[in-house]
Amino acid sequence: MHTFEFIRPPDSAAAVTAAAQAKTAQQGADVRFVAGGTTLLDLMKLNVETPERVIDINRLPFDKIETMPDGGLRIGATVRNSDLARHPAVQRDYAVLSQAILNGASAQLRNMATTAGNLLQRTRCMYFRDTAMPCNKREPGTGCPAITGSNRSLAVLGTSEHCIATNPSDMGVAMAALEATIHVQGPRGIRMVPMGDFHLLPGSTPERETVLEPGDLITHVTLPPPIAGSKQVYLKLRDRASYEFALSSAAIVITIRGGKVTRARVALGGVGTKPWRSPEAESALVGKPANAANFRRAAEAAMRDAKPQSENRFKIELAKRCLTHALQMASMS
Ligand SMILES: Cc1cc2nc3c(=O)[nH]c(=O)nc-3n(C[C@H](O)[C@H](O)[C@H](O)COP(=O)(O)OP(=O)(O)OC[C@H]3O[C@@H](n4cnc5c(N)ncnc54)[C@H](O)[C@@H]3O)c2cc1C
Ligand code: SF4
Repeated sequence: MHTFEFIRPPDSAAAVTAAAQAKTAQQGADVRFVAGGTTLLDLMKLNVETPERVIDINRLPFDKIETMPDGGLRIGATVRNSDLARHPAVQRDYAVLSQAILNGASAQLRNMATTAGNLLQRTRCMYFRDTAMPCNKREPGTGCPAITGSNRSLAVLGTSEHCIATNPSDMGVAMAALEATIHVQGPRGIRMVPMGDFHLLPGSTPERETVLEPGDLITHVTLPPPIAGSKQVYLKLRDRASYEFALSSAAIVITIRGGKVTRARVALGGVGTKPWRSPEAESALVGKPANAANFRRAAEAAMRDAKPQSENRFKIELAKRCLTHALQMASMS
């Protein structure tokens, strides 16, 4: 049985110092923070994660949601997903975030899951979760059996010959459309990472999923001030109505004036190797009349570079319909 040391640091500086001793903050890390534990403990039970030290961050003062002087929102790293989704400011000004969270997991899981933990959840690729199988993400250089094997739920955007795993987060897709910023306290100080730069494409190093380095602790996430008059929708398509990951999802933050789209932020879930912002869809929308034909054109643009595998070609059309329908829902809301 895997044994590990459990640490409760008194403050964030002590947490960072303890974690900075790790060789990596990526797959195989020998030191891990634990928040809600709904990803980490799962993977430890499967022996996919085998940290020697687990640092409990639940007592650190990161459980607040606060409006900032500029009107934006500051969300603590350990704010539970349920509390975030039900917060009045989120429901009023960032509805896409509330909808995305409530479309994920189950009520029990959302009561435990945290803001930072959700952003760092791991892929559901079955080979990654099975230590009897090779997997480049879990054990670099062993191969990717998903490419010729079971890949129905895996990605069609941002893939590489080394890994085609989907990023499974719903919340992350909304955060991408809302242009969130991730705040990190590390051994060399504090830094801010735009959501679009936080997750990495698999390339030839799929074991490396984010820009985090040993010791890096997410302290909070900020959202820019709300966009007046914006319409927001999160639409998630999946095999069953609840407790299931997305086959395709779309997060929309759109402003329409005089029948034309004046501003658009679009992100896709279930189809990308990271929460997938689509500048292609956004530029296809802005300045155009808000109608079904233009929404479909934007969806075509979003999926232009999609690369299907043996079992997931259907996702390309599914994602186009998902995005088109989400845009229609937003324009009519
Ligand atoms: C059955 C099931 C169904 C699910 N369905 C969905 C779904 O439909 N949609 C969806 O989006 N998600 C789904 N999830 C995933 C769930 O949302 C995540 O497990 C959860 O958000 C992770 O948060 P946590 O706080 O429990 O993370 P933890 O398990 O505590 O941590 C996850 C990772 O983040 C790291 N970490 C945590 N906090 C910090 C921090 N502050 N700084 C640096 N590193 C940190 C940990 O070291 C660990 O590597 C599902 C999970 C399960 C088990
Ligand atoms: S898709 Fe990625 S996670 Fe899945 S088997 Fe291939 S390398 Fe591993």
